[in-house]
Amino acid sequence: MSACLVCGSAQFQQLFLASDRLYHTTPKQFPVVRCGECGLVRLDPQPAPDELRRFYPDDYWFAPEENAASRLEELYRRVVLRDHVRFVEQALRGAGAGPLVDAGCGGGLFLGLMRQRGFRVAGLDLSAEAARIAWQRQRVPAVCGALVNAPFAPESCAGVTMFHVIEHLADPRAHLIAARALLAPGGRLIVQAPNAASWQFRLLGASWNGVEAPRHLFDFRDRDLERLLESCGFETLRRKYFSLRDNPAGFASSLAPSLDPMARRVRRIAESQWMRLAKDLLYFAILVASVPFTVAEAACRAGSTIMIEARKR
Ligand SMILES: [Zn+2]
Repeated sequence: MSACLVCGSAQFQQLFLASDRLYHTTPKQFPVVRCGECGLVRLDPQPAPDELRRFYPDDYWFAPEENAASRLEELYRRVVLRDHVRFVEQALRGAGAGPLVDAGCGGGLFLGLMRQRGFRVAGLDLSAEAARIAWQRQRVPAVCGALVNAPFAPESCAGVTMFHVIEHLADPRAHLIAARALLAPGGRLIVQAPNAASWQFRLLGASWNGVEAPRHLFDFRDRDLERLLESCGFETLRRKYFSLRDNPAGFASSLAPSLDPMARRVRRIAESQWMRLAKDLLYFAILVASVPFTVAEAACRAGSTIMIEARKR
């Protein structure tokens, strides 16, 4: 058992056992514990790195195929990414002239949108295939790597973004310190993660999509992330609790994990064309029906994701 990432305490209570509800990569159950001192929720023990790799399906990130349905899906993704684009655009106003680096850029859709808005961008992803697609489809220069070994000069970047990355990292501190070293003075770090202080987690517990065992090693609340950022040399400037891309879809996937389109693709579920369409429509209906609830929880600062803008101190 390990010491708490945020406060260092060795005290904890087990909350529940969680399984891979979404991708079924393993039948194992993983203990999720809460720190007795600061309340941070985490997987403990963490799976070893070799074992952890096996819980990531090959096509974990989104790569559109060249057909009409995929083009429609990409259009949808562009629309629902607007929250991210606007938030980062505002953060980078006055953050200097250096490039924006997205750690965990996947197929590069977000950086492609930022590039179209006139920003200099660069992507990092652990998947060489993702980096290749980011360049091929979005004209986003991307390299295979992580913040801790990024091939950029110290203090050269205006911004670093980490969307749904930090909860996957065995050592988040090392990556935050590396992000800080890359940022120019006054540079901005934007971090987004599921928020364990959400109504969704309170309501659904182990069934909440944000737990995503065993790939999510930490279930941060907004205050845990802020404390962690503070201790790594950042100051929180702004928070956003709603994401049109993530919050309603997260709720829909919590309620009906077997309908999640990504999970069906990753698990290679055999479906006829009509079955596929029926499942997609049912999932979308649940997603749309979730919108009022997810807007309400976000308005009460208990949204199911938290996006934080932090400035390098
Ligand atoms: Zn703690």
